Amino acid sequence: MTRVKDKEHFDLIIVGAGAAGLSLLLALAHKRYKGRILIVEQRESFQNDRIWSFWKTSHIPDYISDKLNYKWNTWSIEADKICNEQRHPEYPYCSLPAETLQQLALNVIHKHPDYLLVFGQTVGEITCENNQWSIPLNHACVLANNVVDTRIDKILKNSANQGNRLCMHQCFYGFEVEVSRSDDISERTVLPLQNKVYLMHDIQIVKEGLEFVYILPFSSKKALVEFTGFYKYPVSAQYLKDKASKYVRTFLGDISLNIVRTEFACLPMQNVKNSRMETHYIFGGIAGGAMRAASGYSFASIQKWANELSKQMIKYDAIKPYDPISPWYRWMDNIFLSAILNDTALSKTIFLSLSKKVKAGTFARFMSSEANLRDLLAIILAMPLWPFIKAMFRVIVHSK
Ligand SMILES: Cc1cc2nc3c(=O)[nH]c(=O)nc-3n(C[C@H](O)[C@H](O)[C@H](O)COP(=O)(O)OP(=O)(O)OC[C@H]3O[C@@H](n4cnc5c(N)ncnc54)[C@H](O)[C@@H]3O)c2cc1C
Repeated sequence: MTRVKDKEHFDLIIVGAGAAGLSLLLALAHKRYKGRILIVEQRESFQNDRIWSFWKTSHIPDYISDKLNYKWNTWSIEADKICNEQRHPEYPYCSLPAETLQQLALNVIHKHPDYLLVFGQTVGEITCENNQWSIPLNHACVLANNVVDTRIDKILKNSANQGNRLCMHQCFYGFEVEVSRSDDISERTVLPLQNKVYLMHDIQIVKEGLEFVYILPFSSKKALVEFTGFYKYPVSAQYLKDKASKYVRTFLGDISLNIVRTEFACLPMQNVKNSRMETHYIFGGIAGGAMRAASGYSFASIQKWANELSKQMIKYDAIKPYDPISPWYRWMDNIFLSAILNDTALSKTIFLSLSKKVKAGTFARFMSSEANLRDLLAIILAMPLWPFIKAMFRVIVHSK
């Protein structure tokens, strides 16, 4: 192992250099945190394995806003040939490839001799010795006053083993494609897509759940086409891949295309309880409950969380658990999930109704967990009444 010595001491150790770990590092650097930070990552190097998309609301800090690769002011939801478009110039839908965030973090690390990042180190069981956290790496043990743990494997495993309580899963397979350069006519060839985000298109109700296609047209020659489903049980990558291939052809036609990248995930749609409530050692990112159960969005919540934690570190040199998603959203997401678990067909009505009856700003703020009371009321009024009242009672009974 380079650079890190056995028993070396840090003010903060971050386990995992994913969205949460890197966002926390950036927030601390932005506030000129002077302590020693170590980020430990089990992968051998960074991978550009995903693209984070979100509405640009107030939680997105300027140093990320300045680097956003893609922005769209319009997004749409379509089912049964009914297409509802929403447009908001102040809250554009944006995308940030993982490599952009990783490069921002590397720039910060190069500037700060006290910020270190090590790859290829799998953190084991973290223990407390003499008021210090002891973090076992592959060939050494490092010490820290504070630990932020963003490992999500345990949480995903717990959810997979949740035999008794049904939970929806958001599963998706995406192809990032571009018009083939070797194609003689490629200079003139453009993708037949409008300049908007296809947030949920061709929504279909199937036996296992709800399916739709999500498309981000990055340019006239490049797009992400992602087949997504909300399923009662996780489905195989191959099933999703086959469906995604079909949609590439349906939406992009017979143009000669190169596959730039693929992405796949199966995320449990449930409110993750932050089980570590101690000062000095907390869970962060999805492991800390930063993902919205009903949508799978977490990037904006992670920014809010990183901002709060960095303030704590600057002020007290200590971290406390912080939940970036208020209980209201968790409650509303549970009601939504209970309603669609009970009657999957309802989800199509809900998404069409939301995109038609609710204003674009309200929709963007709600999806970003930044809604005000008026927004929340508008969302509730846009929902089908009886199924939601029934779902609300189920949630209340379940939580007792
Ligand atoms: C393909 C994909 C696309 C997504 N798209 C969006 C999106 O568009 N918008 C959105 O809001 N959300 C999206 N999400 C959901 C969520 O934002 C991401 O999963 C986000 O990366 C979560 O950040 P995290 O830091 O909690 O977890 P991760 O980014 O997964 O980071 C955890 C890190 O911990 C490391 N690690 C694990 N175990 C160990 C160990 N023992 N020792 C050391 N390191 C370890 C992992 O290698 C990983 O790098 C997407 C998720 C996926 C998988």
